[in-house]
Amino acid sequence: MSGRPIMIVVAHSSASQGAEAPLHEDGSQGIAEYAVSLRASLAAFGDLAGDFPCMLYDAGPHPASEYDDLKIEAVNDVRPRLAVEIHCNASTNDEATFAEVLHRAGSVHGAAAAWAVSNALGDGYRQGLHKAWRSRGARANTVEKDRHLLFFLERTHAPAIIVEGAFISNVEQAAWLASEGGAEAYGLLVAEGIRRWIDGR
Ligand SMILES: [Zn+2]
Repeated sequence: MSGRPIMIVVAHSSASQGAEAPLHEDGSQGIAEYAVSLRASLAAFGDLAGDFPCMLYDAGPHPASEYDDLKIEAVNDVRPRLAVEIHCNASTNDEATFAEVLHRAGSVHGAAAAWAVSNALGDGYRQGLHKAWRSRGARANTVEKDRHLLFFLERTHAPAIIVEGAFISNVEQAAWLASEGGAEAYGLLVAEGIRRWIDGR
């Protein structure tokens, strides 16, 4: 097998934490994407490390205007077998609960990895406690998407995927992600998808 690592890049940063869950009933702020991604990324890394060469990268406390360049530089220094960012989706439609995985248009390996991860998420939800949640599969990035997605997918010289496996804007999914073991379970579904991709399943 390839000696190149699977590189898991923590989404957003501690200084610019991405989308936030709806406020709790007491008015306190719900979990933010960075915290979900950090926990999910650590769980995925812990699952895969030991079986495959793996790296985990967090850009540090940089604002959004800076962390994309740092992440792209880090990925391009490593040239991993696969670069993965685990995000949460967010929508003004607070009912939305589907999973979706993005890849660069025309990237054969990226598309295959994105499909494997999206299928693992859908299977995990269906077989687990979240039978109403679905995967919409994989999707090629379009240039209209925001610059973070565009940069990570388009400027990295490696197969790259962005996992939007759950909506932080949905109260039920946000509660799951924030719960003890919730973000970790999300990360383990991503790891299962990466294993399927490596195994050609
Ligand atoms: Zn995000």
